[in-house]
Amino acid sequence: MLLESRSVSFSYGRRKVLDGVSFAIEGGDMMAILGRNGSGKTTLMRLLLGFLQPDDGDILIDGRDERGMSEREKAKAIAYIPQSTEMVYPYPVIDTVLMGRAPSLSIFERPGKGDEEKAENALSMLGIEHLRNRSVNELSGGERQLVMIARAMAQEARIILLDEPTASLDYSNQLLVMETMERLRTSGYAMLFSTHNPEQALMNATSVLVLSESRIAYSGSPEGLMDGSVLESLYSRRLCIKSIDTGENERIICIPR
Ligand code: ADP
Repeated sequence: MLLESRSVSFSYGRRKVLDGVSFAIEGGDMMAILGRNGSGKTTLMRLLLGFLQPDDGDILIDGRDERGMSEREKAKAIAYIPQSTEMVYPYPVIDTVLMGRAPSLSIFERPGKGDEEKAENALSMLGIEHLRNRSVNELSGGERQLVMIARAMAQEARIILLDEPTASLDYSNQLLVMETMERLRTSGYAMLFSTHNPEQALMNATSVLVLSESRIAYSGSPEGLMDGSVLESLYSRRLCIKSIDTGENERIICIPR
């Protein structure tokens, strides 16, 4: 398994936020994390990134206990894409993508030709070469997310964590980012993303983890959520979840009753 959480528990002071959280993902998997505000999604991401240490349980990256890994080893294994609203430095796009190479360089080493090629390749694979010399803080939210995805690709980590990757994006950019994530998944990355949009979990994920009151309320396939019971109790709303034939493909909708 590329990323595994084994019975992980975590408290801030005396307040338990995660209790016995277990899951495992492999290359080609995309796991969605659903949960109300304050349910521990960000805390779980911070634990997986090694910014926080579990009180109990273990996190394994490619079978290795994260505690025994250096910061550099962790950075080579896991790329993290924050929300598009997070502050960014006004660097040109190409430099921002090149920063993804940092874990592979020694402290005083400058990126070389090979690193530049990896950054350029990531831009062209995502079709955003034209943004190369723009400053990241002048881009739209959707463009910025694609630049952050390019940076993760240049990093060559096989695990990508995304914190609400489509939050505050317009509908077209939401679809573009989800489609791009799907392309990365099918090319072998292990993807994990948090979302407040149940349709993304139902439609785009290969597995879903639902967090509620510090515990796992559901862990399994998106199909297992189709009867609505888990999501209805999560959101305290009656929902209608249906698979729809668009004429071109099957899509899933989740709307309130
Ligand atoms: P989510 O991302 O699902 O909204 P979080 O992981 O941010 O949830 O937060 C889970 C709970 O932990 C919340 O009740 C939040 O108030 C609390 N919390 C988050 N960060 C801290 C912190 N640094 N210190 C104390 N409590 C925190």
